[in-house]
Amino acid sequence: MNQNLWENRTLLIVDDRPDNLNILISYLEKYRFRIQVAKSGQEAIERLENMYERPERRLPDLIIMDIMMPGMNGVETCKLIKAKPEYADIPVIFLTALHNTKDKLRGFEAGGVDYITKPLHNQEVMARIKTHLTLRYQQESLELKAREIEKAKLKTDAINEQLEEAIQEANTWAIEALNANDTKSQFLANMSHEIRTPMNGIIGMTHLLLSSDLSEDQRSHVITIRNSGESLLHIINDILDLSKIEAGKLQLENISFDLRSAVGDVMKVLAYIALEKQLELNGIVHHDVPVVINGDPVRLRQIMMNLLGNAIKFTQKGEVCLDARVHQVSNDNILLIFKVSDTGIGIPENKIDELFQNFSQVDASVTRKFGGTGLGLAISKQLSEMMDGEIGVNSEFGKGSTFWFTARFQIQKNIQTKIPLPESFQTKKILILNKLPNRKAVITEYLKLWQMEWDESEDLFDAYMKLVSGVQENAPYDICFWSVPSLNKEIRLFVDTICQNTSLIHTTFVAISPQYMNLDDIISQQEPFKFITLPCPITYHSLLNCFSKAFRSRKTQQNKSIAMADDEKEVLNVLVAEDNKVNQVIIKGILENHYQFHVHIVNNGRAAITELQKKAFDLVFMDIQMPDVDGISATKLIRNPRTKVYNPNIPIIAMTAHTIPEEEKACIDAGMNAFVCKPINLDELKTAINQCVKCLE
Ligand code: ADP
Repeated sequence: MNQNLWENRTLLIVDDRPDNLNILISYLEKYRFRIQVAKSGQEAIERLENMYERPERRLPDLIIMDIMMPGMNGVETCKLIKAKPEYADIPVIFLTALHNTKDKLRGFEAGGVDYITKPLHNQEVMARIKTHLTLRYQQESLELKAREIEKAKLKTDAINEQLEEAIQEANTWAIEALNANDTKSQFLANMSHEIRTPMNGIIGMTHLLLSSDLSEDQRSHVITIRNSGESLLHIINDILDLSKIEAGKLQLENISFDLRSAVGDVMKVLAYIALEKQLELNGIVHHDVPVVINGDPVRLRQIMMNLLGNAIKFTQKGEVCLDARVHQVSNDNILLIFKVSDTGIGIPENKIDELFQNFSQVDASVTRKFGGTGLGLAISKQLSEMMDGEIGVNSEFGKGSTFWFTARFQIQKNIQTKIPLPESFQTKKILILNKLPNRKAVITEYLKLWQMEWDESEDLFDAYMKLVSGVQENAPYDICFWSVPSLNKEIRLFVDTICQNTSLIHTTFVAISPQYMNLDDIISQQEPFKFITLPCPITYHSLLNCFSKAFRSRKTQQNKSIAMADDEKEVLNVLVAEDNKVNQVIIKGILENHYQFHVHIVNNGRAAITELQKKAFDLVFMDIQMPDVDGISATKLIRNPRTKVYNPNIPIIAMTAHTIPEEEKACIDAGMNAFVCKPINLDELKTAINQCVKCLE
């Protein structure tokens, strides 16, 4: 504590002896203390009371008191001071004779903090006074701090209380808002549902009207009603979806499905709109995406339709492409990323953040031109989030956009998830002539999936040279995919050149072209050369069909008596009873791809019997273990004429996971005609089918 801090500190000196007082005052003067004097204990008490009662209450900071005084001595005076809470905390230092230990002890007992021995020494007096004033000063600062802390605490408590009240109020509002929102969503869901029923009626009636005799005018009016009805239904469906999602009523399905077929379906639906605008449309599914995944195919298709529909809507010229690939794989699930890119109008950067909000559109004039509700992206965002994914966009205004989303699907590791290709396909020699990278990627990703190899050419001359050297090396190409971006003289020249070289008759030329491009003039009637077309966008099934067409007729030329899958052969209607969703996808894929059968799937034996009572089928595949009615019981019932199925003798092939003789016997005893084991082996399947088809003949 420096000298300044002692300035104005008040010391009360209590002593009856003027000589002591004078010495003390002379010591203390230079330190600028305020000195007060009392000549007896009584006077000291009176002074303190006096000072306490004054408005400014300037009590002394320290009392120096002689122990030996006439009347009330120092110890008694100190006791009285300490008994009064108003001044009890003023430190008292006693003045005492050097060796008077008894006095000192009494002084401490009475509440004194220290003593100064007489005769007085300047330095000792100052040392003790300084020490106790410092202590007192520190005590005061501590008290001050404690008071400040207490005040701050009180303030914090008050703020906390206010906060708590605010939180409570906010919670009440949130609950009210939630209830209101729920009610709103519920109302919208009910209303949309109610509107949908009559809308379907109206649209249905327009279809009926259009199939009747109408004048040109009437037909055009009915078409307008139908188109407006369909747009309205689309908006209502969007509102219904959004309100269902908001009300937490939308449950995602979790079933096994084939992503390539789902992408193919979307491509087929959108092909016509893309066709009208002459846009190039492609759907690439990378080869490492598993063939069967578990999730909600309907909602996935909805997101793809929204993004691709927008991409086509906002693109006048160029290309729209969907690219689906693996983003992350873990033990039992897979995160796929879907990118939809276009070469359309693009989106200004400052509008991107709002895009995924309900009813958000970039600009009203654009909306007037292109239509829409501004709900598609909001729904897609919610759906992809429900699939544990995200959605976003990269866009360059005036150049185009790439919308992307991710979605998680379950995969089943130990189950056969590949639909095998006929073995004869794998050894085929393939050439791809293509300048359009996305069109090529669609094909090559399928070829990689089927573990097939291929060669590539970028121009017609190089392709021709490769074809010719293939023949010269005695290894002609079986198939040449030939992408036709536009009709021009070069194309006709290529066809003419091929048709002058009879050594190329072993190759099937597949012209990949959008449907608006009519190649008939160029490629028809070129016998014995073989030209077929593969329309864009290419899908999983269209490519497989193209392969079978190319290879099948080649075989037909060589061996007219081939048993199955001939063009001339009637397509069989096949019923499959199987409860496992993955197996359903596999068996359907094999029967459609290898045999071009029409396949209908049911989940158990009871449903199989109901179908066979409703309609004539040619062949049944029957799983043995199924819930409700199992395969053995169902077969017995089918064979029983009282069940009244269309054909009680219909060939039935058992499908089972176990190869135990008892089970095979039980199948035969029940009336089954053949037997295949799962996972399905193609040769075994062929034998079983041949066996049954013989039964048909
Ligand atoms: P809608 O298309 O029905 O209006 P969406 O939510 O699907 O509603 O899209 C919202 C808006 O985002 C569109 O109105 C459009 O302004 C913009 N948008 C969406 N996709 C594209 C795209 N591919 N290119 C340019 N703008 C787009």
